[in-house]
Amino acid sequence: MTQVVRVAHTRAELAAARARLRGSVALVPTMGALHEGHRSLLQRAGEVADSIVVSIFVNPLQFAPGEDLDRYPRPLEADLAMSADEGVALVFIPSRPEMYPREPVVRISAGALGDRFEGATRPGHFDGVLTVVAKLFGLVRPDIAIFGRKDAQQLALVRGMVADLELPVRIEASPLIRDADGLALSSRNKYLSADERQSALALARALNAGAGASGGGVDGIIAAARQVLDEQHGVETDYVAVVDPDTFDEIGPSSTVGLLVLAARVGTTRLIDNVCVEVGSTFSEGLR
Ligand code: AMP
Repeated sequence: MTQVVRVAHTRAELAAARARLRGSVALVPTMGALHEGHRSLLQRAGEVADSIVVSIFVNPLQFAPGEDLDRYPRPLEADLAMSADEGVALVFIPSRPEMYPREPVVRISAGALGDRFEGATRPGHFDGVLTVVAKLFGLVRPDIAIFGRKDAQQLALVRGMVADLELPVRIEASPLIRDADGLALSSRNKYLSADERQSALALARALNAGAGASGGGVDGIIAAARQVLDEQHGVETDYVAVVDPDTFDEIGPSSTVGLLVLAARVGTTRLIDNVCVEVGSTFSEGLR
């Protein structure tokens, strides 16, 4: 039987419930609409800490005008059921005014990396992400926070913020989870029609093609991945690149591994995906 999970809507409720948590605390920040990718983060949290806190907040600061802030899915009952199943101690679900009682005077800047890749298409997105993550760290005071490798640039930036601002929290990365057909799980997959979902499978195929072309070096990997995307009807490529997973800089000539990252629009839905690739050898890991 599904347990009932404790929910905090306000800062006061959060503070009271946080004070009662035992042992180390792992925070899993989310925007809700939880799927198996999120579940794997909750399970990782349970492995590394005594108590799991999940936050569910669709953060207006990281959405540009015209993006999907208002239509973002909010299936709260199902989210609470999954949280309970995974032994979550506390779910923090603040309202917008609870999270932002005033327009923030100070925001975190994601710096130059915040303007590249995802940030090039979504100006200010990562400033909004880092600002809300910093606020959540201040409110929840977790020992550990879990982030998915699905959002690899976000992970790199959160790690950068924690290091640069000396924040007392350990960041744990959790593997990217895919559907059986290879599509990376995302709350935004709900927006895809049946046809679009078929087209979207090109992203995973492109990663596999890129990983399989590792003998051709970075240029060969990018060309192979890009070709799969460009040939797929209904897919509009945004970027394909091989980067250092920590810095998102181009990898140097002596690097043997990199992260193949890509983004594409399928219909009106923007999707991202990535995989670790070996560079300049005939071996490559490909998708799990
Ligand atoms: P979101 O609710 O989209 O903000 O995501 C919350 C967290 O779940 C982030 O750390 C994401 O990277 C992670 N996440 C989302 N989708 C996946 C996935 N398919 N595999 C692993 N982690 C994921």
